[in-house]
Amino acid sequence: MRLRRVARRLLAFGAICLAASGLPPAAPAAAVNFVPGSPGLGDPFFPNAGNGGYDVTHYALTLSYEPSTNQLRGTAAITASATQDLSRFDLDLRGFSITRLLVSGHDAAFARSGEHELVITPQAGIRAGTVFTVVIDYAGTPAVVTDPDESIEGWIPTDDGAFVVGEPQGSPAWYPVNDNPRDKATFDFSISVPAGLTAMANGVLVSNQTASGRTTWVWQETDPMAPYLATATLGRFDLTTSNTSGVPTYVAVDPQLPKGQVLAKLPAAVDFYTSIYGPYPFNAVGAIVDDAKVVGYSLETQTKPVFDRMPDEATLVHEIAHMWYGDSVTLTTWPDIWLHEGFATWSEWIWSEYQGNKSAAKWFNQLYNTPAQDTAFWTPPPGDPGTPAFMFNGTIYYRGAMTLQALREKVGDDTFFVVLRDWAALNRYGNVTTAQFIDLAERHSGMDLEHFFDVWLYQPDKPTAW
Ligand SMILES: [Zn+2]
Repeated sequence: MRLRRVARRLLAFGAICLAASGLPPAAPAAAVNFVPGSPGLGDPFFPNAGNGGYDVTHYALTLSYEPSTNQLRGTAAITASATQDLSRFDLDLRGFSITRLLVSGHDAAFARSGEHELVITPQAGIRAGTVFTVVIDYAGTPAVVTDPDESIEGWIPTDDGAFVVGEPQGSPAWYPVNDNPRDKATFDFSISVPAGLTAMANGVLVSNQTASGRTTWVWQETDPMAPYLATATLGRFDLTTSNTSGVPTYVAVDPQLPKGQVLAKLPAAVDFYTSIYGPYPFNAVGAIVDDAKVVGYSLETQTKPVFDRMPDEATLVHEIAHMWYGDSVTLTTWPDIWLHEGFATWSEWIWSEYQGNKSAAKWFNQLYNTPAQDTAFWTPPPGDPGTPAFMFNGTIYYRGAMTLQALREKVGDDTFFVVLRDWAALNRYGNVTTAQFIDLAERHSGMDLEHFFDVWLYQPDKPTAW
């Protein structure tokens, strides 16, 4: 997939060189049938999120935020490759007024439609395989998005800045985006804030410079990232930079929070998961610990999970484990969310086990004692949340983690840990499905696991025989 993008980029440049070389024009080709890209990618839970007809390879976001008025001004420069002959295409963006929109350097027409469709019509059709750019100047009040489960996401103002999270549909609240986890891209961030504030983002810190009372923080994420994992959380932070086994490490803590020792465990957690899951997948690691309890959750924003309060140890290691399962290895469609949350929850248990505390088996046994009549615990089954309101239901986490522990006990530790390592290695920076995981477990164990996974992932009742 990514290799093909490079080939297409070369093709596109080749075409430009030919056109400029003064060669006689070729005979007119058959008329190209340019058609609109689809306004959504048809995810079962969020069918209008993301857009068809192109792949984004890079976002360069230049942002300026004024906390006192909650005004965000931005320029997004997006590099993409057309996957069909495009007459027009959409990006996802909620609100904002747009003052300039260029496609490959030329003014383009645009219209707004629905909650978040930005419909862009370039002056000329874009041939399949062509690399093109979209530059958008926008400004306004960024949105707070309420999800089907009533939680909030997007750009959430805090007392000294903003808490910025995008799972599953908050990213269009602050930048124009192809908002689907399948369209991973690299990111550059340049974020201007009043001097004294710190703007955090994914990847490595390139620079921070202060002039005329404002500081510009430049971050670079050179590893592929699903758009929902981007952050620009900003505010008053004490930022500590260090190094974890060769990986640049950035820990930002809101100075209003009571000091705790838990963040000191971050390097050990990274090293521990590296030892069982394989190499740490990204160019940076860290944590952003804000005082934003109204949010009510933490998120595994890539390279630096963001926490709404000082996390406990289980929450810290849960989010770190997501760097392997969720961020590097990412679901293809949202109903497979157990591939993130079941794995991260089981990761809490194995951390506990390796610390000499409660073992994963004990976690499993205690939860398994939950009576079958407690349907709120056992349903929906983790492989089939049914509606987006249940995406982050407890069963996705707990029964999802129990599925992995039951698998571990069925196939044995040796096979189980090879499966986990291979899952991370084979799908690094990719997108996966539950069917692929089942297939991998069957190949390594030599067992027919269809019944096992059906009982654990898809049947609504408490599993009794597997
Ligand atoms: Zn999680």
